[in-house]
Amino acid sequence: MSSKTVVEKVPKVISERAEQVSVEQMPKPVKASVYDNVTKQFNKAADLMKLDRNIRKILATTMNEIVVHFPVKMDDGRIEIFTGYRVQHNNAQGPFKGGLRFHPDVDIDEVRALATWMTWKAAITQIPFGGAKGGIQFDPSEYSRTELERITRRFTFALGDTIGPEYDIPAPDVNTNPQIMAWILDTYISLRPPTRRQNDLHVVTGKPVEAGGSLGRDKATGQGVVYMIEEWAKDHKFDLKGATYIVQGFGNVGSWAARLMQLLGSKLIAVEDATGAIYSVRGLDAKHLAAHVRQKGGVAGYKIAEPIDHETFMRTKADIFIPAALENQITVETAPWLMVKLVAEGANGPTDPDGDEILQSRGIDLIPDILCNSGGVIVSYFEWLQNKRSESWELEEVDQKLHKKIISAYRRVRDTARDHQTDWRTAAYIVALCRLERVYKERGIFP
Ligand code: NAD
Repeated sequence: MSSKTVVEKVPKVISERAEQVSVEQMPKPVKASVYDNVTKQFNKAADLMKLDRNIRKILATTMNEIVVHFPVKMDDGRIEIFTGYRVQHNNAQGPFKGGLRFHPDVDIDEVRALATWMTWKAAITQIPFGGAKGGIQFDPSEYSRTELERITRRFTFALGDTIGPEYDIPAPDVNTNPQIMAWILDTYISLRPPTRRQNDLHVVTGKPVEAGGSLGRDKATGQGVVYMIEEWAKDHKFDLKGATYIVQGFGNVGSWAARLMQLLGSKLIAVEDATGAIYSVRGLDAKHLAAHVRQKGGVAGYKIAEPIDHETFMRTKADIFIPAALENQITVETAPWLMVKLVAEGANGPTDPDGDEILQSRGIDLIPDILCNSGGVIVSYFEWLQNKRSESWELEEVDQKLHKKIISAYRRVRDTARDHQTDWRTAAYIVALCRLERVYKERGIFP
């Protein structure tokens, strides 16, 4: 699809299950616009670097916005209608690339923001991808495994040729994982002519290793976050051995970052996820906690820690905070609570523009999402390359290449912040926008 569908109001999915529960029918509080945050961040950087005004118009707009409503048969024979999205922000640097999120809060505003951030990430890390993101607006925990498989496969079918190995390549995000990627792959290639099937394995990344995934992709985002923290520590002559850290979100990104920080000798003292928050002054064993989360579905009920509330979690005194859950967590209300030296953004968009200003005024360092969590898309690129070349790399090779790429991106952002006398988020945008400006100037605009 190359034309843009403008979507202003997207109807919520109304399931028969939801209709039976009266509390779900109550109007939800209005969600802050995440795309407004992207626009503010973009304008600040574009003004400072004096981005060409024509290229500014192009980058301020998404290219394609696909919304699909599709039916799925439930285990008891009922049909439910789901709403799925794929937003393709820009492909000037290469095929569209970005994750798929399964969450009740997924809407066009959120997906637009996430797609745009993907373009900046690829530009900062200098990988030949554009930016996209997608998802389905529903809570996967309310569905059986077989329903989840049918929802995933039917969504893939509904997207049709709007995704493709050389055009738009999805990956995991919140509530999606290697299994979901394997179902997408299988559905996509089953619809191709038999002679094409083995050539199209790179239609998704983040696959299980046996299905063509890369070693090291599972931990890649968390690993990237930890490489960023190590580099920051080196710059600040800060010893990570014995340093304390807290983590919000204990899924793929949060739990890997937590486990890898522990290997450096740092001490995890508080964790929050969708089920609650916990604290231990003596330190939590991240590996043991990850096993508990796998078994019980969340950190709540972890016996070797004290349960705490959200505000107490955010006020925990520690050296480093790794937000690795959802957007808009560090805001005008919560930024004053933080008692840390560094925020390393594993999540996309955890800090809103007001939160940013407060952190800066309080002298708290921040490694911005579009740099800090780019390890995922970097190793997705490695997986895509391995599939195209029918290769499989050793874990050491993946880690080494990831380290090299993400550290050079870190240095570009750090040096830009110094040269422009600006904050790191704006610097990261400037690095991305300079590269995209060059691409457009060299290629020109058709016709
Ligand atoms: P995940 O589904 O594996 O984990 C999400 C975690 O967030 C879970 O622990 C969940 O309980 C927690 N959470 C949800 N709502 C919460 C709330 N209201 N308060 C506290 N915790 C809450 O997802 P993930 O893949 O780890 O992604 C986490 C973040 O990292 C997202 O912002 C995602 O876009 C970003 N990210 C992920 C990748 C990746 O490779 N998976 C790459 C780059 C960025």
